[in-house]
Amino acid sequence: MAKEQLAIHGGTPVRTTPLGYGRQFIDEDDIQAVIKVLKSDYLTCGPAIASMERKLCEITGAKYAVAVSNGTAALHLACLAAGIKEGDEVITTPITFAASANCALYCGAKPVFADINPETYNIDPACIKAAITPATKAVVAVDFTGQATELDSILEICKENNLVLIEDAAHSLGTRYKGKGVGSIADMTTFSFHPVKTATGGEGGAITTNDETLYKKLLRLRAHGITRNQDEMCNPSDAGWYYEQTELGFNYRITDFQAALIESQLCKIDRFSQKRKEIVKIYEEAFQDVPELLLQKEIEDSDTTRHLFILRLNSKRLNCTRREFFDALHAENIKVQVHYIPVYYHSHYEKLGYAKGLCPNAEKLYEEIVSIPLFYSMNEQDIRDVITAVNKIVSYYKTK
Ligand SMILES: *Cc1c(COP(=O)(O)O)cnc(C)c1O
Repeated sequence: MAKEQLAIHGGTPVRTTPLGYGRQFIDEDDIQAVIKVLKSDYLTCGPAIASMERKLCEITGAKYAVAVSNGTAALHLACLAAGIKEGDEVITTPITFAASANCALYCGAKPVFADINPETYNIDPACIKAAITPATKAVVAVDFTGQATELDSILEICKENNLVLIEDAAHSLGTRYKGKGVGSIADMTTFSFHPVKTATGGEGGAITTNDETLYKKLLRLRAHGITRNQDEMCNPSDAGWYYEQTELGFNYRITDFQAALIESQLCKIDRFSQKRKEIVKIYEEAFQDVPELLLQKEIEDSDTTRHLFILRLNSKRLNCTRREFFDALHAENIKVQVHYIPVYYHSHYEKLGYAKGLCPNAEKLYEEIVSIPLFYSMNEQDIRDVITAVNKIVSYYKTK
């Protein structure tokens, strides 16, 4: 049988309209929630923020939540609240968005990259252990694609070495680890509400914690380091106008209309999780017996709400590079992405002295992956188109 001509070689694309790898879902409830705030007295510092924080606590099982302007600000504040400063080291994974490492740089600390497990793609606890030095103060563990990291092992390592565990859960809202909600397990957990993530506020982020001291510190750092609580003041006064800046904080506040949008989205988290799980199941059934493709291994302890679905090319059985595979899918109008370029490949990190060769498993993974579309509002035809396009390209390039 003749091979079907790929769109990249002039054939007919599987789709006529482009399908991105992620997209927000906004319904009438979400719009009304925002309008209600826009017509109210408070656009910022109002009641919608605390209300959204309570909702996030309810979903995750965390005691406290602090909403901030974005996920990057959440990571920055978590590092500051952990006491990270110049000369400290923070261990993280290279297979993540740069923000997971940049947060250490913001504090004058040094990000140290620990390699990943080649099957789960998450940071390998043994590699964390090997990377610890007397300067290590914290671990930023990323739940890559939404799958929880091996939290029990990592928590144990952190406890033994007196390290703060910050879990970057930008991908894993809705995921549960051994029955507990992500957000209730690490010392601090950070979330992002960027539109490609599972729930959105346009921009937005949050930190959850069970520790009251960290919580109060995060509240102050979110708003300039200013307190109105006399107990926290160095020069207490009960004068009506008085507030005091006790440390150097930031304006990392979120607006009330973003918080209202996020809360409205959080109310749909079960639907969002369910649909993502359904799509993952369809993809897994379609691709698990395709020897040209390798799938991410799921650990039993993680009940995962997946943010990304990754196809790893089995280079032994495909006559194409990842670049050709990526370009071929784009030509079929399936707009895949690559998650992620190892953080230390970026020229900023090169200038800081990081070089290739640091994390071999991460570097190999990066050469072989694409993320296919996965989002709530995909319809059955979209899902079929992705599978058809992938199979078409695999058939064309397979070696056997
Ligand atoms: C999206 C993301 C962030 C940053 O979140 P923003 O809200 O875009 O600042 C941090 N870490 C990971 C792993 C992410 O995917």
